[in-house]
Amino acid sequence: MADWKIPQEPRYTHYFLEDQMQENLDRGRKPQAFDTPFRYSDSGKCARAMAYSSMGYEGEPFDGPSTLVTGIGTYVHELVQDAIGRRHPDAQFEIASQVIVSSGHTDGLIPSDDLGLVQYELKTMGGTAFKKSIGFTNKGMSPNPQGPRYTAVLQAALNAQANNCDTIIIGHISLEAISRQAAARMGLSEWQRVIAEWVIPKQVWEPLADQEIARQLGILDDLNAGYLPIPIAIDDEGGEVNLDPSNSRYWQCQYCSYKTQCEADGGGRVPKEEGK
Ligand code: SF4
Repeated sequence: MADWKIPQEPRYTHYFLEDQMQENLDRGRKPQAFDTPFRYSDSGKCARAMAYSSMGYEGEPFDGPSTLVTGIGTYVHELVQDAIGRRHPDAQFEIASQVIVSSGHTDGLIPSDDLGLVQYELKTMGGTAFKKSIGFTNKGMSPNPQGPRYTAVLQAALNAQANNCDTIIIGHISLEAISRQAAARMGLSEWQRVIAEWVIPKQVWEPLADQEIARQLGILDDLNAGYLPIPIAIDDEGGEVNLDPSNSRYWQCQYCSYKTQCEADGGGRVPKEEGK
């Protein structure tokens, strides 16, 4: 008798993702908030990938796992926004805005007494990324947690600048809870097992927004001059990293929907061939 404990290729369970992927294909690219070359969600991303996107290249569609992760993220965003709205009726969500070359929608604009107008940004993630962000290690809580991803801070900073905000709050929700035992050992509260928030004042985020806008203007300069930019992205420390799709250590390339195109075009600053 076959060992039933060996997992099988799914017969039923993946249907909903098949449907979601088809719906995404039928719907096409998500419309932009405004007709700008870039989106806030591009912040810190590979310059080359941003160039392809602004040139209208379709890229490869999301695969099943990415569709699942994105779908859960969207669902959780809606739950969080609804709950904030019930408690803060003056809060606004999904408001479109633009700043010079970039545009997008805010996760939330929440007026507050102590922090002024708050630009709220939410990220959902797996347990490993969450633990890294709060500094959870097997040896104890690190005094130097990674915090939110640098790209998330840049995205929030552009949104904050466009909406004249005072403060950014980034919320993380983990889709996998830290165990009760580990939380007790580390002194984490019930909420802290799955949720974290960071408050970022204007003197921190404003210069970052200016730097990112300057970077995006540089990408646009390359495009206007007829070139694809050098594939440089911003890493988690805010430094520049020169990507290479043929090198598996660059995770950005492994998840990039323009990888095939990029490999065909080659590295460095190369002439663009529109519509290729
Ligand atoms: S494959 Fe890598 S280098 Fe090329 S566009 Fe994508 S992220 Fe940038």
